[in-house]
Amino acid sequence: MLSSYELYEPHTLQEACELKQLEGAKIVAGGTDIYVAMHNGSLKPAALIDIKGIEELKEIREEEDHWFFGALTPHRYFEESRLFWETFTALSEGCSQVGSVQIRQRGTIGGNICNAVPSADSVAPLLLFDADCVIASAKGERIVPLKDFFIGPKRTVLEKDEILKGVKVYKQAAGTGSRYIKYTRRKAMDLALCGVSVLVALEDGVITKARAALTTSAPTAIRVTTAEEFLIGRKADEVDAAEFGRLCCEGASPRTSWRSSSEFRLTLIQNMAEDAYQTAVKRARGDVFCDTPSWLTEEG
Ligand SMILES: Cc1cc2nc3c(=O)[nH]c(=O)nc-3n(C[C@H](O)[C@H](O)[C@H](O)COP(=O)(O)OP(=O)(O)OC[C@H]3O[C@@H](n4cnc5c(N)ncnc54)[C@H](O)[C@@H]3O)c2cc1C
Repeated sequence: MLSSYELYEPHTLQEACELKQLEGAKIVAGGTDIYVAMHNGSLKPAALIDIKGIEELKEIREEEDHWFFGALTPHRYFEESRLFWETFTALSEGCSQVGSVQIRQRGTIGGNICNAVPSADSVAPLLLFDADCVIASAKGERIVPLKDFFIGPKRTVLEKDEILKGVKVYKQAAGTGSRYIKYTRRKAMDLALCGVSVLVALEDGVITKARAALTTSAPTAIRVTTAEEFLIGRKADEVDAAEFGRLCCEGASPRTSWRSSSEFRLTLIQNMAEDAYQTAVKRARGDVFCDTPSWLTEEG
């Protein structure tokens, strides 16, 4: 049974930022996280600020070096776009594995980020593309790199009067490939027991840029810079993928929970990092594209 709350439906960001300062107020976007928490009694907000009527948060635009995705962009948008499967492959892979079609249609990228759980499927892929968070408040806007956005499980740098306006996702050079692998206990809808995401850029077979990001492997989604540095400057063919996997494990601190032991998660990270690296290299070379959904049309 839901406790009672005041519902506000602002139409401007300014109004929403002011309302967010009310005692016990919570933002609601798609509601796929927040209503579950309210239903199970773990969250009892005094006020809900429904931001779905704010047009600015739905904006999607291409700039010279990046794409801007408004916080209300649904996961399904990335899943349905051939362009994003080709350019931000790992991101489309992550978003297409969130819950069910209904959840992906309703759940937003902003909600996935702001919920700040370590299992969020869009976050490790977004870290590969150096995503920046655009944060709005009544005072104006500020930019915080996504890698600095989380300060702990369910905790972000957002101040009381701040709302995530959207994310900037940076375009990559030709010869870049990326991969997100999510491990779940069952094939049906499930949260990640562990997720590994890898990006490599190649020039004449040499790795010029590398990113490695993990989910459910630490209190927040993380990048493993030691593993990234290990790859840079090496010939992709000569990389010891097992050593790359080992470095990813070294950077991780998975916990033991009812879902899995920390030891099992480390075994997953080792194997998934090797696998994700190899696929990212193949994609960078153009040897394989990705498992684009069969229903995605040429025009998608
Ligand atoms: C059945 C089911 C399966 C799921 N499976 C997955 C899964 O496989 N992978 C996965 O990653 N997630 C999964 N989820 C979780 C959820 O669907 C996603 O996290 C989704 O992206 C949340 O987006 P939302 O818009 O619904 O967020 P909401 O529920 O509206 O909000 C989530 C949190 O973010 C805050 N918030 C939202 N938008 C903003 C904003 N713009 N600025 C500031 N704060 C904001 C809210 O106050 C709230 O604290 C699942 C959920 C369900 C119910």
